[in-house]
Amino acid sequence: ALMITDECINCDVCEPECPNQAISMGEEHYVIDPQRCTECVGHFDEPQCVQVCPVSCIPLNPQFVEDRDSLWAKYRRLQAAK
Ligand code: SF4
Ligand code: SF4
Repeated sequence: ALMITDECINCDVCEPECPNQAISMGEEHYVIDPQRCTECVGHFDEPQCVQVCPVSCIPLNPQFVEDRDSLWAKYRRLQAAK
Protein backbone atom coordinates (compact mmCIF):
# COMPACT_ATOMS: atom_id res chain seq x y z
CA ALA A 1 0.00 0.00 0.00
CA LEU A 2 0.97 3.61 -0.45
CA MET A 3 0.69 6.38 2.13
CA ILE A 4 0.23 10.15 2.15
CA THR A 5 2.77 12.19 4.09
CA ASP A 6 2.20 15.43 6.00
CA GLU A 7 3.46 17.33 2.96
CA CYS A 8 -0.06 16.88 1.55
CA ILE A 9 -1.65 20.25 0.74
CA ASN A 10 -5.24 18.87 0.75
CA CYS A 11 -5.77 19.75 -2.88
CA ASP A 12 -8.40 16.99 -3.26
CA VAL A 13 -7.28 15.81 -6.70
CA CYS A 14 -6.23 12.27 -5.74
CA GLU A 15 -9.37 11.22 -3.89
CA PRO A 16 -11.70 10.88 -6.93
CA GLU A 17 -8.96 9.15 -8.95
CA CYS A 18 -8.65 6.15 -6.62
CA PRO A 19 -10.39 3.09 -8.11
CA ASN A 20 -10.65 1.46 -4.67
CA GLN A 21 -12.04 4.39 -2.65
CA ALA A 22 -8.96 4.07 -0.46
CA ILE A 23 -8.37 7.82 -0.06
CA SER A 24 -10.24 10.03 2.38
CA MET A 25 -9.71 13.17 4.41
CA GLY A 26 -7.99 12.40 7.70
CA GLU A 27 -7.57 14.59 10.74
CA GLU A 28 -5.07 16.96 9.15
CA HIS A 29 -4.56 15.78 5.60
CA TYR A 30 -5.70 13.12 3.18
CA VAL A 31 -4.93 9.53 4.13
CA ILE A 32 -4.86 6.13 2.40
CA ASP A 33 -6.55 3.09 3.92
CA PRO A 34 -3.90 0.37 3.49
CA GLN A 35 -6.62 -2.29 3.54
CA ARG A 36 -8.08 -0.79 0.35
CA CYS A 37 -4.97 0.39 -1.54
CA THR A 38 -3.84 -2.17 -4.12
CA GLU A 39 -1.24 0.28 -5.50
CA CYS A 40 -3.76 0.31 -8.37
CA VAL A 41 -3.02 -3.35 -9.21
CA GLY A 42 -6.09 -4.74 -11.01
CA HIS A 43 -7.08 -1.32 -12.37
CA PHE A 44 -4.12 0.61 -13.76
CA ASP A 45 -0.44 0.16 -14.60
CA GLU A 46 0.57 3.08 -12.39
CA PRO A 47 -0.75 4.34 -9.05
CA GLN A 48 -3.26 6.99 -10.09
CA CYS A 49 -2.86 9.10 -6.96
CA VAL A 50 0.89 9.37 -7.53
CA GLN A 51 0.26 10.42 -11.13
CA VAL A 52 -1.93 13.36 -10.14
CA CYS A 53 -0.38 14.55 -6.87
CA PRO A 54 1.19 17.97 -7.45
CA VAL A 55 3.57 17.75 -4.50
CA SER A 56 4.74 14.10 -4.77
CA CYS A 57 3.81 13.21 -1.22
CA ILE A 58 2.62 9.60 -1.80
CA PRO A 59 5.41 7.07 -1.11
CA LEU A 60 5.21 3.35 -0.33
CA ASN A 61 3.93 2.67 3.17
CA PRO A 62 6.81 0.93 4.97
CA GLN A 63 4.32 -0.67 7.38
CA PHE A 64 2.47 -2.34 4.48
CA VAL A 65 5.04 -3.66 2.04
CA GLU A 66 3.26 -6.12 -0.26
CA ASP A 67 4.29 -8.14 -3.28
CA ARG A 68 2.27 -8.25 -6.48
CA ASP A 69 0.52 -11.49 -5.54
CA SER A 70 -0.82 -10.08 -2.30
CA LEU A 71 -1.89 -6.87 -4.06
CA TRP A 72 -3.81 -9.00 -6.58
CA ALA A 73 -5.36 -11.00 -3.75
CA LYS A 74 -6.47 -7.73 -2.10
CA TYR A 75 -7.93 -6.53 -5.40
CA ARG A 76 -9.96 -9.76 -5.71
CA ARG A 77 -11.18 -9.48 -2.10
CA LEU A 78 -12.32 -5.91 -2.70
CA GLN A 79 -14.10 -6.89 -5.92
CA ALA A 80 -15.84 -9.81 -4.20
CA ALA A 81 -17.05 -7.50 -1.42
CA LYS A 82 -18.76 -5.14 -3.88
FE1 SF4 B 1 -5.89 4.34 -4.62
FE2 SF4 B 1 -4.22 3.41 -6.44
FE3 SF4 B 1 -3.49 5.45 -4.88
FE4 SF4 B 1 -3.73 3.04 -3.82
S1 SF4 B 1 -2.25 3.65 -5.39
S2 SF4 B 1 -4.54 4.93 -2.95
S3 SF4 B 1 -5.41 2.19 -5.00
S4 SF4 B 1 -5.11 5.47 -6.39
FE1 SF4 C 1 -2.64 15.58 -0.85
FE2 SF4 C 1 -1.34 14.94 -3.09
FE3 SF4 C 1 -3.82 14.03 -2.66
FE4 SF4 C 1 -3.41 16.61 -3.18
S1 SF4 C 1 -3.04 14.89 -4.57
S2 SF4 C 1 -4.77 15.77 -1.58
S3 SF4 C 1 -1.48 16.96 -2.16
S4 SF4 C 1 -1.98 13.54 -1.48
